[in-house]
Amino acid sequence: MRLFNILASLGFIISLCNGVLSYWNNGDRKLLLINTGIALLSLSLLFYAYHSKKYQRCYFITIVVIFMFLFPIMFFKSGGYKGGMPSFYIFGILFTIFMLEGWLMFFCVWLELIIYIFTIGIAYYYPDTVIWFQSEKEIVVDVLTGVVVSSASLGVAMYLHFRIYKKQQIFLSQAREEAMEANRAKSTFLANMSHEIRTPINVMLGMNEMILRESESREVVQYAKSVERAGNYLLSLINNILDITRIESKKLDIIEEKFSLRQLVQEVCLIGAKQAEAKNLEFVVDVEETLPKYLEGDALHIKQVILNLINNAVKYTKKGKVFLEVCQEEKQISFSVKDTGIGIKKEDMEALFDMFMRADIKRHRNIEGSGLGLTIAKELCEQMGGHIQAESIYGKGSNFTVYFPLKDAGTEKIGQWKVVEGEPVQEKRKKFFASEAQILLVDDSEQNIQVITSLLRRTGVQLDTAASGFECIEKVRNKKYHLIFLDYMMPEMDGIETFHRLKKEVNGQSVPVIALTADVSTGIHQHFLSEGFSDYLSKPVMWEKLEELLLQWLPAELVSMKNGAGEDWNITEKQLLDLKQKLKKWDIELSEGLRLLSGSISQYRKLAELFVEYYMPNKEQLARSFERLQNTQKEIKNMTGLIHTLKSNARAVGAIELYELSFVMEKKGKIQDVNYINKAIPLLFFEWERAVQGICFFIKYTEPFVLKNSEKNSQKQVEGDCLDESSEKTYKEAKKELLCAIGRYQGKYAEEQIETLLSLEKDADQKKQLEKIQKSVRNLEFDEAEQLMKEWEKDYD
Ligand code: ADP
Repeated sequence: MRLFNILASLGFIISLCNGVLSYWNNGDRKLLLINTGIALLSLSLLFYAYHSKKYQRCYFITIVVIFMFLFPIMFFKSGGYKGGMPSFYIFGILFTIFMLEGWLMFFCVWLELIIYIFTIGIAYYYPDTVIWFQSEKEIVVDVLTGVVVSSASLGVAMYLHFRIYKKQQIFLSQAREEAMEANRAKSTFLANMSHEIRTPINVMLGMNEMILRESESREVVQYAKSVERAGNYLLSLINNILDITRIESKKLDIIEEKFSLRQLVQEVCLIGAKQAEAKNLEFVVDVEETLPKYLEGDALHIKQVILNLINNAVKYTKKGKVFLEVCQEEKQISFSVKDTGIGIKKEDMEALFDMFMRADIKRHRNIEGSGLGLTIAKELCEQMGGHIQAESIYGKGSNFTVYFPLKDAGTEKIGQWKVVEGEPVQEKRKKFFASEAQILLVDDSEQNIQVITSLLRRTGVQLDTAASGFECIEKVRNKKYHLIFLDYMMPEMDGIETFHRLKKEVNGQSVPVIALTADVSTGIHQHFLSEGFSDYLSKPVMWEKLEELLLQWLPAELVSMKNGAGEDWNITEKQLLDLKQKLKKWDIELSEGLRLLSGSISQYRKLAELFVEYYMPNKEQLARSFERLQNTQKEIKNMTGLIHTLKSNARAVGAIELYELSFVMEKKGKIQDVNYINKAIPLLFFEWERAVQGICFFIKYTEPFVLKNSEKNSQKQVEGDCLDESSEKTYKEAKKELLCAIGRYQGKYAEEQIETLLSLEKDADQKKQLEKIQKSVRNLEFDEAEQLMKEWEKDYD
């Protein structure tokens, strides 16, 4: 632009001077006219370009009118090739190269060249067409004028051009640097924000887990489950964002180690089967027998990719099946996840792996998703040297296959695959007590401390807390601990520094220290281990993992396993799923019942037996009460009381329909709505009978397990009898806790305390009394339980 302005201005001045000079020298009017024309044209182009900003057009007009038309005329008028015009020709061509772009530039340059050569040719062959200069002096003056003017213009043009180019270069590199800086800042911001968001979510989920464990109200549990679902979704979203940030900033570590393919597939299948079951989908697994059992690769990331695909397959399938196929293709292991879901349109396939891409968004609005999962899966695959492929038929289903080049790590073959070989359920539910164990929990977050304290309460461990690294060191100086949980992210002195100072300065060398972290980045485990930590526990802290770590790291002599009957039931996940499914026929939600009993099937069975025992006499009692209700309405209070008990029992076994009906009937009873009760009572009896049928089925189904394990249980009971003296303190504490739990209507917690007491109690009479209390608690008769507790204290203290 500036270049054009300068050149046009120069053109105007030079042409004007040239015209006047030629007129002055030899009175050439024609040249004066042409030069004046050029000057005027330059001026008007300058004016037009300034106002319209259409510079390209002005360049083009200049080139066509001046360089291609007026320059040749001037050539013939002022000395032909024996003058200054050839210099202007060169100027014209270079100006065209600078000002125009692309094919237009090429075209114009060629045209100019042709025109110029043509004019020179004509001048040579037809000298008469040219007005030659008369003297050598005139020629020299004109040539010099041409050379000076054109080289000066070209010099200015080139100077400006390169100055502009340099400036642009500097500007671009600055902009690039700024963009990179902004991108770095964005990544850091996202990573920090994700971490900041994870912390409160972890606390929420931890607290929510406590609500789920402690709450006796079905509604509250439903609310808490929604919180859990939303919280987990939010957490997965944050984790996805963290992953993307890490991938973008190339901070993702791929760690190749030997791993068991069998275990990986098993873990993936367990999660996949559970997800599929929740949507009533069939989960089919096919694993090639000849696959190596051990491979070398980054198992964690491979698992993440496959789980992502399974998660999508389940998410986008309404009915049918989800298949997982594992095979070997040449030197690659492939995992194929196929579904019979909604499929993907052809036009959406291309952008499927783009960030934030969600195909057919209008139809999927109600399906949660961020459009990051496949991007992460693809990036992870590629970083591991593999690739991902997608095929889909809209409306029929999709097939995503990932290929990883994994090396064999041994000669063993994976062998025949049995569908969901689920480990026995009880494996996950080792209950224990460790009242002598001294544990130190170090975390700067008050809420995190609360969550872990609540989770640890059931184990009876003696827990001290510290809010900083300094406090931790101080505590370890003064007391010997068996285990330390140390938060990684703390202000002032972080977990790693605290750990090293502990090991160096204080007598903490031999204590196992477990790192607590909300950081989910891969490689973090190895990082902690390489720093010397014994293990790590990620937040949100899940009870099972916490329990596992305690069992692993606490000295064995401090841990006494609870011998809750049935804890060693050899029922597999698959059998349990099957049972759950079958019980649905009678509207019995086994999971609901199990949840209230911390998953203990044996305890559920006891409750189930009581439920059946309770049926006949209580049904008769309720029927009698109903008859009396027809005659005297005073009976309604008594009847409401009976329905209240039925409601509690129905809930305890997970008989949802019966529970809901009795819930409503109790409410109606309280407001004396006899009319409603009259109408609903036959339905209540019907639902009750159905529930009893379902429970009877459960009892029959589980009979073989009871027989199989009765021997083991009796053996464990003997072990339980030999608990050491130090249990006295535990006994007292459990008794105190039991009283509180009964006062607060915390059935499950009360049961746990009773179990502890039963395992420590040796006196047969006291055991009997405890069993009575246990029965009342199971029947949710807390007033009665409180009364029995008082009697017990009076009689034996
Ligand atoms: P999202 O969180 O939305 O599921 P993904 O990156 O995992 O994000 O998937 C991107 C999009 O690809 C999804 O929104 C969905 O439209 C489509 N998609 C992925 N997997 C499947 C599948 N198995 N069946 C149908 N559509 C799928």
